[in-house]
Amino acid sequence: MNRLILVSNRLPFALERVGSGPWIVTSSVGGLVRAIEPVLRERAGTWIGWIGMAGDIPQAPLADASRNAGYQVIPVALSEAERDEFYYGYSNEVIWPLFHDLQNFCNFEPAFWQTYKAVNQRYAETIAQHCERDDFIWVHDYHLMYVAQALRERGVSAALTFFLHIPFPAYDIFAKLPQQQRLLRALLQFDLLGFQTRRDLRNFLQCVRRVLPDAAVHTIAGLHLIRVEKREVRVGSFPIGIDFESFEKGAASQEVAQRAEQLRAAFPGCQLVLGVDRLDYSKGIPERLRAFRDGLERYEELRGRVVLIQNVVPSRVEIPRYHEFKDRIDRLVGDINGRFSTDTWLPVHYRFRRLDRDDLLAHYRACEIALVTPLKDGMNLVAKEYCACRIDKSGVLILSEFAGAAEQLKRSALLVNPYDVEQVADTILKAFRMSKAQRSMRMKRMRQLISNENVFSWVNSFFAAASRSPSDSAQNPR
Ligand code: UDP
Repeated sequence: MNRLILVSNRLPFALERVGSGPWIVTSSVGGLVRAIEPVLRERAGTWIGWIGMAGDIPQAPLADASRNAGYQVIPVALSEAERDEFYYGYSNEVIWPLFHDLQNFCNFEPAFWQTYKAVNQRYAETIAQHCERDDFIWVHDYHLMYVAQALRERGVSAALTFFLHIPFPAYDIFAKLPQQQRLLRALLQFDLLGFQTRRDLRNFLQCVRRVLPDAAVHTIAGLHLIRVEKREVRVGSFPIGIDFESFEKGAASQEVAQRAEQLRAAFPGCQLVLGVDRLDYSKGIPERLRAFRDGLERYEELRGRVVLIQNVVPSRVEIPRYHEFKDRIDRLVGDINGRFSTDTWLPVHYRFRRLDRDDLLAHYRACEIALVTPLKDGMNLVAKEYCACRIDKSGVLILSEFAGAAEQLKRSALLVNPYDVEQVADTILKAFRMSKAQRSMRMKRMRQLISNENVFSWVNSFFAAASRSPSDSAQNPR
């Protein structure tokens, strides 16, 4: 088995310190980390990434973290200017909005691209220092799309693979990117490119066809190969999953059951509708609040009978647009509660903070309806986690057709266009009225699928695609 080198913008640890006290290392507990850590341990692996703070990296706490994790951890340092122009700038003010179809939110500042390339080169340098010829290198996400190009320029010939966690836009949107050609050529220096959905894959192939006339796309029984500059690049869709069992088990714990019960008891006689999102304009929170308000306006039967629990996790607050966006949410919540609340009922229960895991699971367990309505989303794990935690096999998922998860869950979730406020309001009513039998039939189907296509099978399917040589693939198409 080849050694695995995993590269992502952030390491799976955060370093914190109060004043000049000791450094505290907190490990990330996300599904990807849980799925990938055992593989890293088994394959003498290395994780390369940024620690999340600008400036010098304290070595001792990281060495401890690496020892505890059971694989090597190599940090990449960023200065404050690099953090601002690479992370906040190109990654989160150019690629993030553009790839979520929100081109008006982009800030195409030319300096951002220069720093993006320079930082990707730094990552490449770090990889080159630590990799050997037969290593399997797996780079993650939109911050690091230039890494393969920088590695090839350094003569690295190891297998390079990439997975994009966010959507890939259609050509008409991608065409706005000033660096469209350079970025696509850089991506095609990888040997395997993975996308979340078939739609993202289609968009990517369309962009390659339109932007790079010298690239030829071959599709053999559902498998795509791009021939360019005498190289062959495989591309595929690999919808990311969650650690279903750990959510299911967590939801069944006594602690979570108790908290869920307390939550339910706080809103007697009401169906609870849940929204949980990071503070991000791609999540469609104002549109959702407007839809909820529209539902209360038009359907008297919902008044006093539903409560929207909207939890927003602070995120990227350093970017001014995120501030304005939070103000909009605050105003809408105030407007709805001001207009509709009674002495005994407050329609929107709004919190601006991260929930810890048990609390989040308790919310999933307690709420009869989940309202997951991003304007666009790579996958949306909240949708899958909600279903995994519905251990009584009830609950209705209202899901945006523009979330990656819709491709897998479209038969059983109630799909909506998040921009269509009236349709979302009507769907809330439909969910509110849905019979127990319907709820259960739909939820069982979703749980089955999410359990089968979990994060572990996602890792395996990516490795399996990478381990076939292009010519194998052509002879034995999937
Ligand atoms: N999450 C959390 N606490 C919260 C809200 C969300 O830990 O209060 C986690 C949630 O479990 C999920 C992730 O944050 O795994 C959000 O992932 P998603 O794909 O839905 O959206 P993203 O924030 O990655 O765009």
